[in-house]
Amino acid sequence: MKCPRDGAELATVRIDGVELDKCHHCDGLWFDQGELDRVRNLDFTDVEERLEQKYGNPDVAAGKVNGYMRCPRCTDGRLQEFTYTYGNRVRIDRCNECLGVWVDDNELDAIFGEEKQLEKMAQDGRLKAFMRAMSNLMSSK
Ligand SMILES: [Zn+2]
Ligand SMILES: [Zn+2]
Repeated sequence: MKCPRDGAELATVRIDGVELDKCHHCDGLWFDQGELDRVRNLDFTDVEERLEQKYGNPDVAAGKVNGYMRCPRCTDGRLQEFTYTYGNRVRIDRCNECLGVWVDDNELDAIFGEEKQLEKMAQDGRLKAFMRAMSNLMSSK
């Protein structure tokens, strides 16, 4: 799979039992819909529960389809912008075919702050809470 932003090869990273695809060029992250679904069945820690209570039903607004960003998973898919309020307003791009989600590195900054190393995010539960909130969003067309 290739980065929808810059075409670099995506590398698989495994975090908390969930496989993500990361671009080592721009540090963007790809979330497969299937992987997000699995997050919903995992047990939650206290941290994640609190985060979900706080951000579980974030405001989402659909934006325009991005003409040049193609889905890394299904080459016919086009990415559509969504504005997603999870603490801060962030922009994510969702494939209109497979419902996978691309999150740019600077948008991860907006969600997780400067200390956004994946391992740390996984340890304190923020990543799982975010993925769970996204999976709720992504299950509705
Ligand atoms: Zn990239
Ligand atoms: Zn797709």
